[in-house]
Amino acid sequence: MEFDTIAAISTPMGEGAIAIIRVSGNDALHIGDKLYRGKKRLCEVETHSINYGHIVDPETEERVEEVMVSVLLAPRTFTKENMIEINCHGGIVSVNRVLQLVLKEGARLAEPGEFTKRAFLNGRIDLSQAESVMDLIRAKSDRALNVAMSQLEGKLSKRIQKLRRELLETVAHVEVNIDYPEYDAEEITVNILMEKAEIVQNGINRLLQTAEQGKILREGLSTVIIGRPNVGKSSLLNSLVHDNKAIVTDIPGTTRDVIEEYVNVRGVPLRLLDTAGIRETEDIVEKLGVEKSRKVVSKAELVLLVLNYNEELTTSDEELFEISQGSDRIIIINKTDLPEKIDMKRVKMLAGNQFIISTSLVNDEGVDELEEAIKQLFFSGEIESEDLTYVSNSRHIALLNQAKKAVDDAMNAINEGMPVDMVQIDITRAWELLGEVIGDSVHESLIDQLFSQFCLGK
Ligand code: GDP
Ligand code: ZN
Repeated sequence: MEFDTIAAISTPMGEGAIAIIRVSGNDALHIGDKLYRGKKRLCEVETHSINYGHIVDPETEERVEEVMVSVLLAPRTFTKENMIEINCHGGIVSVNRVLQLVLKEGARLAEPGEFTKRAFLNGRIDLSQAESVMDLIRAKSDRALNVAMSQLEGKLSKRIQKLRRELLETVAHVEVNIDYPEYDAEEITVNILMEKAEIVQNGINRLLQTAEQGKILREGLSTVIIGRPNVGKSSLLNSLVHDNKAIVTDIPGTTRDVIEEYVNVRGVPLRLLDTAGIRETEDIVEKLGVEKSRKVVSKAELVLLVLNYNEELTTSDEELFEISQGSDRIIIINKTDLPEKIDMKRVKMLAGNQFIISTSLVNDEGVDELEEAIKQLFFSGEIESEDLTYVSNSRHIALLNQAKKAVDDAMNAINEGMPVDMVQIDITRAWELLGEVIGDSVHESLIDQLFSQFCLGK
């Protein structure tokens, strides 16, 4: 494929020490040579070399910027096209001036994500890899970063391809059966069909199982802290946010007006809802009333219910238990440094089989156990370390669910003794849907839409 030459500043805007201008396309070196003055011309240097020199305004030969220019010849480049990367170390003004010169000499300003889009269109990466570049940019925790990295390396693609091969073999079998009915492979075909369909179904299921964790990694686990006034919600929030180096929020003026906050608890990104309510001295339950708390709770994927060890359970406590009944929940018994007044038997009964963690937040005690419980609750066991192929993208999840349904339909059809060509329709559909995950058979406009979500210069 051939495209025009594009350029953009690919480092974050601002006061960074170095800014890089990326230029990609057939004319990249040609444009570079119009502006670059160094020992050799860029079209004469070796590929994958870095070259010291200056960028000048070709009309006046005035030096604009002292630079290092990387020359990267196709196809071993990010976009599979000829590329140069101009490393500038001046401030934003001179970087912009260099970019303007590059554009004046014939490059076009890249759209957001266009470099990655080219890598995709030139066949260097598939769609799921391209999307993972976007996830990398947005990764909110190390774990999320690892997932994005492994997706970028093509792990998800490999798995999908394997499943598609199974389906293709199945289709081939059915094809034989349709074309040569006298061959009488009907019996065998049905068995093989069923076997293959099961393999694919299991494969899709395994991928979908990771989806929940994947979603958490991408979007954060929406979490709400509830509890009566004075039980220690602000203290808990501070412990989580500042890793115990908390600011005491009950001091007037330290209240921050935020609705949500992110904290990274052992790789689980918590998205703390309504922290403004907790940070204010009036507490969320009092301020909003039980009915509204119920609403906040219903939006949360994790509820941290804080109780006071040093007080008897009140009707408010019981109400909070009730409104958070259906949620994933951790019960936190705080102020264990003070004498026991709470009815622990009753608490255990209300908590059922959910985690109960004892804390003394003034002494920083119990926070480790709480963090461990959060991790266990959402990253139980095997998947976490060995299997980094989390499906974390809602487009992928939707496609996988549809593919799963198509395979289910195929299996039902087989069981009902439907003719094989009916089964084949479902199998082919599953094959197409899986293909869409990795970008085979994807509609153009979908591609445009996906890539427009990227940062500029990526
Ligand atoms: P909130 O109203 O639920 O947000 O509770 P705060 O976090 O503002 O805490 C209320 C009061 O209880 C503050 O004076 C805290 O210092 C105190 N407090 C918090 N945790 C503990 C604890 O574990 N032990 C004791 N003794 N006091 C605590
Ligand atoms: Zn508070």
